Amino acid sequence: MKLRKVTAASAAVLALAVAATACGSSDSDDSGSSGGGKKIKVGIKYDQPGLGLKEPSGSFSGFDVDVATYVAGKLGYKPSQIEFVETKSADRENALARGDVKFIVASYSINDERKQKVDFAGPYFLAHQDLLVKSGSDISKGTDLNGKRLCSVTGSTSAQNVQKTIAPKAQLKELSGYSECIAGLQSGAVDAVTTDDSILAGYASQDKYKGQFQLAGLKLSNENYGIGVKKGDSATLDKINKALETMVSDGTWKTDVEKNFGPSNYKYEPAPKIGQIVK
Ligand code: GLU
Repeated sequence: MKLRKVTAASAAVLALAVAATACGSSDSDDSGSSGGGKKIKVGIKYDQPGLGLKEPSGSFSGFDVDVATYVAGKLGYKPSQIEFVETKSADRENALARGDVKFIVASYSINDERKQKVDFAGPYFLAHQDLLVKSGSDISKGTDLNGKRLCSVTGSTSAQNVQKTIAPKAQLKELSGYSECIAGLQSGAVDAVTTDDSILAGYASQDKYKGQFQLAGLKLSNENYGIGVKKGDSATLDKINKALETMVSDGTWKTDVEKNFGPSNYKYEPAPKIGQIVK
């Protein structure tokens, strides 16, 4: 029958494609077990200096990158077996649901809404929402932000907090990444960029922005960073929580935090306890 022939033909094509992939393509296997030439795909940010940054050379840096590398190590993957994938704020839940990545370390705040869709290990870091403004700006503590032009990122808790509580009448511009917001602040298109102080401090300390921006120093929220895994993947979740505990107890957490936030003078909070969310 015609239908059957077609099916057999596509099966043959598929088999060839699979064979081609197996022989030497860079495609990876993120099934989660270690060994062999297997790889693990991990979601990070690409444009957040100090947290997750893809350098022009193609290498990666930042605290989230270090946490991801440490955790992957405990799951049995060497650094060379990690494939970093960019997961922007609005893409994180879908990337996990689709299985694009095994886990996500990307300034990813734990909250109830997200917990309906993904599971979180951690928290491994506590940040606070703040504002980045131009040096000399009159926006500071106590300034009414309603009516101000604020920039934040689609799918972030920062954008949500502005609309719900911080300044529902602000002119909120939502873009896909914080670097786009920073460009808007530099050009004067917006009055402030709002997100986690950890992210903003990283931008402010970059050589190309030195002296241009300042943090307002408002602790507008508690952002408990978790490591996202696919909903129901409790085996990975448990292993990651153990890895995070060890990362703190063996001193690596502290070393990595100092290495990454030292340059920006960011006053980081002590390591949170696994399973304890600061409300
Ligand atoms: N931590 C906040 C969040 O998860 C803001 C930073 C981000 O967009 O990654 O939404």
